[in-house]
Amino acid sequence: MLLLQPIRRLSLLCSKISKMENTVLLEASDENIRYAAELIKQGKTVGIPTETVYGLGADALNPHAVKKIFEAKGRPGDNPLIVHIYDIDTVSLIAHDVPEIFFRLAEKFWPGPLTMIVSKKSIIPYETSGGLDTVGIRMPSHKIMRKLIQLAGPIAAPSANRSGYPSPTSAHHVMCDMNGIIPAVIDGGESRFGVESTVISFDDEKTVRILRPGSVTKQMLEKAAEKVIVDEAILNELDSDRTAPSPGMKYKHYSPEANVVLVEGNFESFCRLAEKYDKESTYCLIFDNDDISKIPCKFMKYGSGSDEQAHLVFSRLREADKLHAETVLVRAPSADGVGLAVYNRLLRASGFEVIRI
Ligand code: AMP
Ligand code: MG
Repeated sequence: MLLLQPIRRLSLLCSKISKMENTVLLEASDENIRYAAELIKQGKTVGIPTETVYGLGADALNPHAVKKIFEAKGRPGDNPLIVHIYDIDTVSLIAHDVPEIFFRLAEKFWPGPLTMIVSKKSIIPYETSGGLDTVGIRMPSHKIMRKLIQLAGPIAAPSANRSGYPSPTSAHHVMCDMNGIIPAVIDGGESRFGVESTVISFDDEKTVRILRPGSVTKQMLEKAAEKVIVDEAILNELDSDRTAPSPGMKYKHYSPEANVVLVEGNFESFCRLAEKYDKESTYCLIFDNDDISKIPCKFMKYGSGSDEQAHLVFSRLREADKLHAETVLVRAPSADGVGLAVYNRLLRASGFEVIRI
């Protein structure tokens, strides 16, 4: 019998927990990873660390298992799951008519935070693909996730948050959202990147379309593909007459309970704007190098460069709820490179509420 090594049973100060105590938080020992793989093979769900954010994993080929992911998250059934694979040979098992450019990009960016959408084979159930004939595939680099896939087979894993809430970047975040709802979470420390994978599709053999920005940036993709398009829905609200190229674009995303307002402008005008907000219930999310003596509200910092901001952004949005913030005024990050991913998450967290000053 496998010996479990739960780190602790948590009763953490998380907002909005409906049930407590059933979920075990597992330290990342080989035994516990084997135990988690067994759970997945039995059709159960597990919270898993990855290099992007924590995922809620289940057997990608088992429709009953995959349904549990949707139930645990409260995720709309038409929002497809990414399938995580161990090696390149698995691609031909789950996808067909894969363009040559897919393999070029896989060579360059896998294992890593890039998801590519191609035609699915029937082995991938429609429950996994959200009813689509395509599947998003990623080969992760995180060693715990890789070990689990090696033991349990392809794993479908969306971010392990309640649908609509900021993604989890620590095991603690997953426990806050999923305690009592899923059997286990593996603690692999903080996620390295902090934002979800870059999702791309292919318009043709030469053209890559970014559907969700991530840590594999447009500039990086341009080194391997002739043409890279940033889909307009990344920075703009979807027009009601346009079908979402990625179903996730339709839904409320990354939003804490607090009202997020994205503020574009210099620090002085940001501070002048902040003056107008209630001092008790408003938090400013600012850069590390901003002059805190000028800030009229309570504040949190989220780094200075884009990589740091990606690493911290979800954590800070979650902290705002713990602090009972009603409004979070966010200093808009640069939208260059990885910054596009940070900007996109904040834009959606704000429900496209941007003040330009
Ligand atoms: P998450 O599972 O939370 O990381 O989100 C996965 C994102 O990838 C969602 O926005 C999905 O809509 C998108 N996605 C996954 N598979 C596909 C697919 N086959 N076609 C289009 N978008 C996809
Ligand atoms: Mg998600």
